[in-house]
Amino acid sequence: MKSKAVIFENDIDTVNLLNKGLEGLGFETISVSSGLEGLETVYKVKPQLIFLNPAIGDISDYQICKLLKNKEEYRDIPIIILTDKPKDRLKFWSIKAGADDYLLKPLEKENIGEQLKDLISHFSKNINFSSFLDKTKKFNEIINNLTRAYQESSDLNSLVVQKIFQQLIEAMTVILKSELGSLMLADKDSNVLIIKAATGLNENIVLDTKIRFGEGISGWVAQQNYPLLVCDIEKDGRFYKENNDKYYTKSFLSVPVKFADTMGVININNKINKEAYNTDDLNLLMILVNQISFGFQSSKLCARLDGTEKRLKKLEGANKILIEANQFLDKELYETTISDEVNKIVTADLNYRQTINAVIEIVEQLVDFHFCGLLLVDEKSQGELIISIKYPATEAEVKKFKLKIIDSFNKLTHKMLSKDKVTLNRFDGPAIVTEGFKEEDIVSSFQAELLHNADKVMGLLAMSHSKKDAFAEEDLKLFSIVAQRSIPAINNAALHKRIKELSNRDGLTGLYGYRYLKEQIDKELKRAERYQEPLGFIMLDIDGFKKINDTHGHPQGDIVLKELSSILKEICRNVDVVARCGGEEFMILLPETDKDGTFYLAERMRRVVKNYDFSSSTDEPIKLTVSLGVANYPTSATSKSELLKKVDTALYQAKEEGKNATCQA
Ligand code: GH3
Ligand code: MG
Ligand code: MG
Repeated sequence: MKSKAVIFENDIDTVNLLNKGLEGLGFETISVSSGLEGLETVYKVKPQLIFLNPAIGDISDYQICKLLKNKEEYRDIPIIILTDKPKDRLKFWSIKAGADDYLLKPLEKENIGEQLKDLISHFSKNINFSSFLDKTKKFNEIINNLTRAYQESSDLNSLVVQKIFQQLIEAMTVILKSELGSLMLADKDSNVLIIKAATGLNENIVLDTKIRFGEGISGWVAQQNYPLLVCDIEKDGRFYKENNDKYYTKSFLSVPVKFADTMGVININNKINKEAYNTDDLNLLMILVNQISFGFQSSKLCARLDGTEKRLKKLEGANKILIEANQFLDKELYETTISDEVNKIVTADLNYRQTINAVIEIVEQLVDFHFCGLLLVDEKSQGELIISIKYPATEAEVKKFKLKIIDSFNKLTHKMLSKDKVTLNRFDGPAIVTEGFKEEDIVSSFQAELLHNADKVMGLLAMSHSKKDAFAEEDLKLFSIVAQRSIPAINNAALHKRIKELSNRDGLTGLYGYRYLKEQIDKELKRAERYQEPLGFIMLDIDGFKKINDTHGHPQGDIVLKELSSILKEICRNVDVVARCGGEEFMILLPETDKDGTFYLAERMRRVVKNYDFSSSTDEPIKLTVSLGVANYPTSATSKSELLKKVDTALYQAKEEGKNATCQA
């Protein structure tokens, strides 16, 4: 059928010229000489194009345009104004009037065909595009609503989603200029298609229709995941029998569609006409359907980006905690190393725990796990495993997790850490471990990250989940970041713990421990050798301390030990190392102190203690004496072991000689 053009024009030359040009472009033209006649003609023939001279008379151009543009059926017909008025003014009026373009009179005789062709192609494209754009814009809005609703409920059967499905199928039938459309969704378990939304369909059909995959047109489309255009259903042996009495449709478009993970089919039908659709319509429908899939994909992407962003924010906070923990520990470490106030290390015990807990807490915040464990291993291949459990688990599962961690640690490091060497501590989180709970494979998903500082292996951070593939790529990335960032903090904390352990025995007196003292002997001996300086060493033991405990009680004995420690520190210089090396034995290392000086100091200690009134719970103060052994570098010994041995012998000698004495090695 030919396209029609209606020309509102009195000027015969213009009409003839337009006739000529339009015929060349395949148009059938009808010219009218009044506005009223023109409108009647337009209503009757529904042309594809209108030319309008504003000076046509009885009805103004403005009114003609308004009348046509306000009616749905005629809105899309381009109106081209024929005018000799100046361009700018015309533009204003043509827009006001709702016209689509203009031709300036007089028309160019020579190339009227080209001129018209240009004009029509340019702006028929515009017209189609803009009206289509309007519809698809609306359509995209519906898809946006759909994906948003789905994101909130994750349920395609929710009431909100159902409502949007209805809007969706209505919009699609409008865009495809059809009266009948249906949206079907596959039931995942049974692979049966059910109509979720429809337009133009009998309600009973909507409710009753259940189509198995492979059955009929929709079933075929769902099974093959392939779109179908059926021009004449009566001629299509595959579908005619089954569908003829069901739908009474003549032509059919059917396209598969994926709503998130659910298979569906969109049908657009025509009840009356055969060949109502062609491949262009099928393509259009597929474009719309692709839009849906794309909507779901991009909403998923957005949700993921959103989640990552939130978690990165959390990570920032976590990082801050770790940096603060680090700074705090650095400061603590510095203090404890340079000062002899060991008490501070003792109270810092909490900070070691806090650091370890902070790491686990951060993982807890960022990733959903069933078990999370932090294994820390020392030089002697002794380990501590701190675990956090998010969901109920049994003791057996805890053991299994522990073994898995040790196993992966050994595999990663080629070490042979034994499970007996690893103590287990539970992180006080929300975990409830109940017996008799249905056991799951709690290591269905497992991720471990080795922690090492330079070449030194510190341990392993691991997490597990009873669900398979529980950790998304982002989870693993975040987990790795936490593990890596935690290393300095854990390292500091471990150092901290070690220093605390070194002086562990001195929790009571605040003095250095035996191990620290031995390290200091090594250091001071080297120094003394290098600078040719003497080194003094005193060993002190309380006489009859057992009796003091027995008489005054153990707590009072503790007080005596503390007071004695203060006396010794008071007598010594800052550079001297005063250590408690067992119950009531003390050792003092005196740098740059010779034999005489050492002996003199030991004697002073003995005298001061002897004269001192130690606190007592009774009116009578506690009195006590001490025995001391003295040894020196280089006069009595040149090595650490020799020094220790000589000083011990000297002390033994002092005891032998009747106590309350100082003996020189
Ligand atoms: P001697 O004169 O031969 O050294 O006799 P002694 O009783 O001092 O020596 P012995 O080694 O036989 O006993 C040491 C006692 O010190 C035994 C123990 O009860 C006590 N003791 C060890 N550590 C502590 C402590 O931390 N607090 C208290 N109150 N007593 C302690
Ligand atoms: Mg003693
Ligand atoms: Mg003793």
